[in-house]
Amino acid sequence: MTTKALLPSVSVEETLEEIEETGDRIFIKASLKAVEHEPLTKEEIVHLLLLEDPHRTKLLFNLADAIRRKYTGETVLIKGIIEFSNYCKKNCLYCGIRAANKVERYRMKPEEIVQTAEEMARLGINTIILQSGEDPYYTTSLMEEIIKEVRRRARTPVSISIGSRTKEEYARFKEAGASKCLLKHETINREIFEAMHPDDDYEERIELLEHTVELDYIAGSGNIVGLPRQTVEDIAEDIIFLRDVRVRMVGLGPFVPAKGTPLENHPPGDTALTLKIYALVRLSIPCVLMPATTALGTLDREKQFQGFFAGCNVIMCNFTPERYKRQYKIYDNKIPVEFFDTAQRLENQGWKLNPLVLRALKAYENFEERVTL
Ligand code: SAH
Ligand code: SF4
Repeated sequence: MTTKALLPSVSVEETLEEIEETGDRIFIKASLKAVEHEPLTKEEIVHLLLLEDPHRTKLLFNLADAIRRKYTGETVLIKGIIEFSNYCKKNCLYCGIRAANKVERYRMKPEEIVQTAEEMARLGINTIILQSGEDPYYTTSLMEEIIKEVRRRARTPVSISIGSRTKEEYARFKEAGASKCLLKHETINREIFEAMHPDDDYEERIELLEHTVELDYIAGSGNIVGLPRQTVEDIAEDIIFLRDVRVRMVGLGPFVPAKGTPLENHPPGDTALTLKIYALVRLSIPCVLMPATTALGTLDREKQFQGFFAGCNVIMCNFTPERYKRQYKIYDNKIPVEFFDTAQRLENQGWKLNPLVLRALKAYENFEERVTL
């Protein structure tokens, strides 16, 4: 049996009172604005991203936590990801599976993808994310087939994270049954974007993202924290962009170096700053679906779970079959976010989980007990 830790109970009003006691006028004003759904200014966001005092930082997290509970409840959604191909035709400077990097490559067969999805659905996985490098092997019609079959047999929402495709293709994938998609803008600073993405056009990427919003996907985007020459002002612009482009999901995490890439010796992104960014995103988009990311967990496993007290409400578990998992190395030392371990940790933190997930967890615990007896 597991013992539930009591969740700290914070209400928006109580937190606001405590924030007022700090005497930090910018913090107080920004918090009141967030609660009233007024957009924060760039200066206010920068001020909060630069908070160093531990008490004030904690209050910022508490406010994000209270807003998250008020608007999206106490459930943590467990989504599952299948990394179905690590072939990529692009050369984003930071990424370990960029075309120029010498790594073993794999592609999953459609039937293998669908069978994995079926197993995930049995465990109560809320959304199945199909992710890959930019791999033209999966043509428009093959992707359509895979999406349709996953929908038919797993009956869960399907999210796609397969990079830049044409607007028409995104429309067809929606038609085939994908209801969510993730297309990160990576950074809104044009110079940094262009330096990082030799194959991408800045405007086209943003236009495509806007198009996915217009197509009525539950559209997602996000940025990498800690790219070369990036400043907190850039990050504030990223947050404002995410708010204004009206995405409903935000996936953002720290940069993690990957061997063999031009950025292999660049220092990893700041994990403490990442938590503050999560809080600021929650203040800016109250209903957002926002995972505490694997990239953050790779640099600091505890901070990933602290993310749920700083505004995050989703976690992505990895269901890529064992024989491929190690090859999907977008960065080094990527942790395996394993389903049972994750569900158990969330249970211990006291979060609400999907009843199917709880049932699977109980069955797993009983099985473990029998094995150890
Ligand atoms: N090819 C698709 C999806 C797979 S990559 C695409 O690029 O959209 C998914 C995400 O991994 C990217 O959006 C990028 O933000 C992230 N990523 C890649 N390399 C990374 C690194 N070294 N550190 C942190 N995030 C990285
Ligand atoms: Fe390919 Fe995506 Fe990696 Fe860029 S981030 S190299 S598009 S897998």
